[in-house]
Amino acid sequence: MLKENKYDIIVCGGGPSGVAAAIAAARRGAKTLLIERYGFCGGMSTSALVNPWSGQEYVDPETNKRGSLIEGVFKEVVLKMHTNGGFGTSLAPSAFDEELLKYIYDTLLSDAGVHVRYHSYVQSVQKEGDRIASIGIASKEGIEVFCAQNFIDCTGDADVAAMAGVPFEVGRQEDGLTQAMTVSFRMGNVDKEDMIATGNFRAARALVEPYFQKALSKGELHYPYRNFIHFYDYPRPNILHFNMTRITEVSGLSAIDLTKAEIEGRRQAFLIGNWLIKSTPWFKNAYIEKIACQVGVRETRHIKGLYTITSEDIIKGQKFTDGIARSRYFIDIHNPTGAIDIQQIPGEKGAVKPNFGPPPGDYYEIPFRSLLNNVCPNVIVPCRALSATHEAAAAIRVMATMHAIGEAAGIAVAESVRQNTDVLSISGEWVRKQIPYLSKSPDLDKIWNSNA
Ligand SMILES: Cc1cc2nc3c(=O)[nH]c(=O)nc-3n(C[C@H](O)[C@H](O)[C@H](O)COP(=O)(O)OP(=O)(O)OC[C@H]3O[C@@H](n4cnc5c(N)ncnc54)[C@H](O)[C@@H]3O)c2cc1C
Repeated sequence: MLKENKYDIIVCGGGPSGVAAAIAAARRGAKTLLIERYGFCGGMSTSALVNPWSGQEYVDPETNKRGSLIEGVFKEVVLKMHTNGGFGTSLAPSAFDEELLKYIYDTLLSDAGVHVRYHSYVQSVQKEGDRIASIGIASKEGIEVFCAQNFIDCTGDADVAAMAGVPFEVGRQEDGLTQAMTVSFRMGNVDKEDMIATGNFRAARALVEPYFQKALSKGELHYPYRNFIHFYDYPRPNILHFNMTRITEVSGLSAIDLTKAEIEGRRQAFLIGNWLIKSTPWFKNAYIEKIACQVGVRETRHIKGLYTITSEDIIKGQKFTDGIARSRYFIDIHNPTGAIDIQQIPGEKGAVKPNFGPPPGDYYEIPFRSLLNNVCPNVIVPCRALSATHEAAAAIRVMATMHAIGEAAGIAVAESVRQNTDVLSISGEWVRKQIPYLSKSPDLDKIWNSNA
């Protein structure tokens, strides 16, 4: 075995959770390797063009001032994005430029001393007893083996944990179907002036919505995939971001299904994009500027951890002594079988049932135990595949929350290296104490109200 292939910690997957985990672990002195299949970090935010950031949002009930429930590495990223002019617009205060984000992640990882290996796919796990001894990586160099004391599975799909025999469930309980997939796209050269004048994204969408509904009802447009126009502002002139395509009854764990989803998603992107150009005044000079290089996958595996987060925890605003992240993002299920989302009230487009998130001003916490399992003690799963039901995962999965959970896991795993033990032995109560902002009121820094 090559000496340079030995690390204290290997983080598999460079999405929001993996980046934050690797930075936190390396800053605590652990020799950390991050392995990512693409040539950049960001996961869904960069490869699938997912935008804007959610999970941090907090609105002070008394002053109506926007704030954040999440600080740490996430806030560092946001501050750097803001300084470099790639964060926030008046219509979408947490929208970001993903090209800048790739660069900022590279810089933060490098400054923290993380070894990064792009273009490398984790394809196997070798176990000694119940522990992972090494992982196999496929790349242009063939198959290589990398060893570590502890592994952080941030693949989004719990690939490493699953290969190590950690039990998991897929999708919803009744039939195993997962949330719909989406191929995100951007429209360029959009006349955004009227939209910006409305002052918020719901009002901006409402300008386009009647055109969409009329075209559907008159049969001029056949678009049975979404029942309302769903776009966000983007922090660059004349560009809008569309989360509008929908591919149902496909699995993110099947290459055949993923292929089908890519092709169908691109078809839907051109269908709706060309209709917008032909039929609405704001888009008459527009064009499809970019289509995500991979279909957006919202859900695959959920590990069976030491604690499984439920929808009751989300709705009640449950707190835990080992809570390591907090959020008030709602149960946001993109219908696994159709156009109308589960949480939407039929006939009230865009309306959300009020009890699908914690009470106003409140938040729920994510317990450290939901990242751990009792089958393989040296792997932790702090990504969207953590232990949660289909419903609860639909709230936790968003990207600011993923930064927070990943950071907590990085802290925990670095401590397990220091103690020469497995991450399963680390106390969640101790991890919580390492994240001081969790015991404070939400952050009302002006950054959450300012626009690029
Ligand atoms: C269409 C869509 C819209 C969404 N909208 C929003 C939104 O508006 N706001 C929001 O905050 N969140 C949104 N989300 C949710 C959010 O994007 C994801 O849940 C979040 O990115 C998950 O973070 P993660 O770190 O767990 O995984 P990911 O972001 O999926 O990152 C996983 C990383 O691991 C890498 N990887 C996977 N397997 C391997 C392997 N075997 N070997 C090597 N590398 C591997 C991947 O390339 C990727 O970089 C949306 C998701 C989708 C799909």
